[in-house]
Amino acid sequence: MPMEIKCPKCGRRVRWEKNEWRPFCSERCKMADLGAWVTGGYRIPGEPDDESAAGADTPDDEND
Ligand SMILES: [Zn+2]
Repeated sequence: MPMEIKCPKCGRRVRWEKNEWRPFCSERCKMADLGAWVTGGYRIPGEPDDESAAGADTPDDEND
């Protein structure tokens, strides 16, 4: 019985052996996941949300 893992991105079952994209099922899922990190799609655990809320109060004069 081959060892299988679940792709963290799409949940598809994928073989662990000889899978160069592990723990993902494919290049697409790997890139999508890395991209999510880069673009801030993931929140950093423990990061408080209060700061961004306070920042929203600043005037818009930087938008010249
Ligand atoms: Zn996948």
